[in-house]
Amino acid sequence: MTGEWLDAWDRTDGARRAADLFRSRFGEEPDGVWSAPGRVNLIGEHTDYNGGLCLPIDLPHRTYVALRNRDDDVLRLVSEREHAMWTGTSDQVHPGAHLGWAAYVAGVAWALNQSSDADLSAVAPDGRRSPSGARVGGFDAAVASCVPYGAGLSSSAALESAVAVALDDVDDLGLASSDAGRAVLAAACVRAENEIAGAPTGGMDQSSSLRAQPGHALLLDTRDGTVQHVPFDLSAHGLALLVIDTRAEHQLADGQYANRRATCEAAAARLGHTSLREIGAGADLEAALAVLSEPGDVEAETTVKRVRHVVTEIARVEDFVALLDGGLVAEVGPLMDASHTSLRDDYEVSCAELDLAVTVARASGALGARMTGGGFGGSAIALVESGSVDRIATAIADAFDAAGFTSPVFLVADASAPADRDAD
Ligand code: ADP
Ligand code: MG
Repeated sequence: MTGEWLDAWDRTDGARRAADLFRSRFGEEPDGVWSAPGRVNLIGEHTDYNGGLCLPIDLPHRTYVALRNRDDDVLRLVSEREHAMWTGTSDQVHPGAHLGWAAYVAGVAWALNQSSDADLSAVAPDGRRSPSGARVGGFDAAVASCVPYGAGLSSSAALESAVAVALDDVDDLGLASSDAGRAVLAAACVRAENEIAGAPTGGMDQSSSLRAQPGHALLLDTRDGTVQHVPFDLSAHGLALLVIDTRAEHQLADGQYANRRATCEAAAARLGHTSLREIGAGADLEAALAVLSEPGDVEAETTVKRVRHVVTEIARVEDFVALLDGGLVAEVGPLMDASHTSLRDDYEVSCAELDLAVTVARASGALGARMTGGGFGGSAIALVESGSVDRIATAIADAFDAAGFTSPVFLVADASAPADRDAD
C-alpha cells in the first residue's frame, strides 16, 4: 500500500520526549510538561471569523512543552523540529517583530501580559496578579510534537495552547481550571497568532485545543464565544473518521485567507451588519445576495459566492448538530459533501489534491467527505465504516500515486482531550 499512517504518540512518551529535550539542551529539570492537541473541524469552515458556528474535535495528536520558569525576562526556546535555539527577552516580543516559530510561544506570554487584571480577576479571582508590570516573565521551553505542520490540523494552536496552560500553571494565573478561564487563554493564543505571528486566523483552533472534551465535538459560537459539548462517539456506531493529509501546500494560502476574510467583512459592512452571522439562511440570504449582486461585475459576483458559502455553511453546522443530538451520526454524510461543494465552488479554497481525496473516498464507500481547515492543501476528512478504513485509505493512496501527487498521510481521529498538564 502506498501512503503512510501517522500514529499519535502515547502521552507518556510525548511528555518524556519534551522533558528529555529540555534536559539535553538546558542541563536542568523542567518544572513540568504540558500538552495540547491539534484539531480537525467536522463542519463549519471559514465561519469562525464571520461570527459563525464551527464544530471541531481534538485529535489524539498533541504538542508537548517542557517548561521552566525563570526569574529574569529571558526566553530560551527549542523545538525538535527547529534547528536553532531561539533566545531573546520579552521586550523583543511585539507586533511587527520577526520571531519565526518563536512567535507562537513568546506571543502567548506577550498576550497574557496584555490582558487587563480586571479581565483576569473576573474569571479567576484567586489567580496571582502582579501590580507592577509583567505577570508572565521569562522561561525556558522545549517542544516536541506529533502534529504535522501546515496539514490543516492546527499545529500552531496546539503549540500556543500547550504554552498557555504551562504559563497559567507556573505563573499561578488560575485560568485553566474553568471553561471561562480557558476562553481567556484561547483569546490570548489568538492574539499571539494574529498580532505576533501575523496570521489573521479566527478563533476555532485555539478554542478547540483548550475547551473541547473527549468523546465530544465542540460547537463553538464565535459570535459570543459560547460552547456546547456535543456527544461524538463514532465507534459506538461502527464508524470512524479518516483524516487524509494531502501533503499539498500551495503558496497562495496566506494571502487568499486574508483576502477571503476581507471580502466577508466588507460584505457584512455593506449590508449594515457587524458580521455575516446576522444573515439567516433562506429568504434572508436571498435578499442579501440581491443587494450584493451586480451581474457582469466579477468582483460583486465573487462576493455573492463568498457570502453564500458562509451563510449556508453556518446552517449546515446547525443541521449537523441536530443529527448528532438525534443519534443520527450516520446521516451527516450529505452535509459533509455539501460543505465540500460549497468550499470548492463558492469559496474557492479547495485544490486538486483535496478534490481527489474526497471523490475517491466517496466512490470507495465513505458516507461523506470534505476538505477541512483553511484549504489550498492540508487535510480532508471522510466518515467511513470502521471496517473499511484501510480499504478506503488504500484507494486514495493509489489514486494519488496514479495522479502523480505526493503520497498522502492518514490518521484516524477520535475526539480526544484538551490542553492540560501531563503526569510527571
Ligand atoms: P498549521 O495548520 O499546522 O497550524 P500554521 O502555518 O498555522 O500551520 O502553523 C505552523 C507553524 O507553527 C510552523 O511553521 C511553526 O512556525 C509553528 N509550529 C507548530 N508546531 C511547532 C513545533 N512543534 N515546533 C516549533 N514550531 C511549531
Ligand atoms: Mg495554524
